[in-house]
Amino acid sequence: MGIIIGGSKNGLTIKEANHLQVVSMAINNSCNLKCKHCYLQSTQKQNPVLREDEWMSLAESLFTYSAPSTIAFVGKEPLLNYQSANLVSNIIKLRNTIQRSTHNRTSIGLLTNGMSLLQFSDILLANPPDYIDISVDGLPTEHDFLRGKGTFSKLKPNLRWATENFPGPLWLTPTLNGNNIDSFLDMIHYYNYHFKIRRFAFGFYIPRNNRNDDLSILPGQIEKLVNGDLYKLAELPIYEPIEILFDLYPNHPDSLRSFIDSGWAYSSGGIESSVYDFSNGVSMKIHATKVAVGLRYSVRITPEGHWLAAEDAIRMNEYKKLTVANVRDFHYDATELYETGLNSARFYKLCRKNKSKLQKTPVLKE
Ligand code: SF4
Repeated sequence: MGIIIGGSKNGLTIKEANHLQVVSMAINNSCNLKCKHCYLQSTQKQNPVLREDEWMSLAESLFTYSAPSTIAFVGKEPLLNYQSANLVSNIIKLRNTIQRSTHNRTSIGLLTNGMSLLQFSDILLANPPDYIDISVDGLPTEHDFLRGKGTFSKLKPNLRWATENFPGPLWLTPTLNGNNIDSFLDMIHYYNYHFKIRRFAFGFYIPRNNRNDDLSILPGQIEKLVNGDLYKLAELPIYEPIEILFDLYPNHPDSLRSFIDSGWAYSSGGIESSVYDFSNGVSMKIHATKVAVGLRYSVRITPEGHWLAAEDAIRMNEYKKLTVANVRDFHYDATELYETGLNSARFYKLCRKNKSKLQKTPVLKE
């Protein structure tokens, strides 16, 4: 749950250009796990979820007119059952038909907990997404602590299948939290050695209601990461070349500040990337975003059809208040939905909150 703005996006950096770049589609409200750190838990009654034909209409509009750089399927769990696995597959087929040429083609990713990769292997191989993110949460014991006892042993054959059979890039997307952040280097080493994992996209745990809880990262732990472990990456024994990605956003200010203060990330600009290539074959990219990305560059569509700023994805109990539109009310027209988002009070507020010289505060239309 750490990388909320569309998963790894296969390493894509959001650009400060005025068009929609990342759409994360939450296609269901159910999961086969019950993780301690899950932010997709609502106590509110939700609207009816979108039917498959409604998702297809929305996807058709997105592929035809908006052509975002990335669409990421995020579930709760997109490989929960045949219905959601088939929906992903059908949207990939639709993309292949509408965007035949490779120019401006929308990349499609799947963010899964990995528990059912084997079960849906035929579907995944028939119409493969461009990349898969698997939300592993640390070494096996740490993973089980967060995701439930015995989870890792069930994940293992799925992970093995994916590394040996999936044709596209495979990313592990651990959420660093107070329980696993001290194992950062061991985690990379373990998955690289035992599973030949070459790509890791790290996010940071955001405490619910922004209050500290027992998974919160302590200031000293982030200090150890940025002033110790990141330097040790250059000496890490590796078995396959490794790509590491940190996507930093203002919604986790401690990590953004620590990466800037320690010199790993730029302090200037709205969105900046730094790349460090170490001689042992480890490459680390740091994307530091200091402006609001929601509604202008990145949106979340919920199972009920809410069009939300990406930053609001973790506030599930407030979706009804935070939504700027429902896709049903706009006949699944992504262009109109996008315009509505840019002219919404929510966008205005997000820009004010993350005010930057590079991101002008919009003028609201009446
Ligand atoms: S796998 Fe993801 S969606 Fe499912 S319970 Fe865990 S954090 Fe939540």
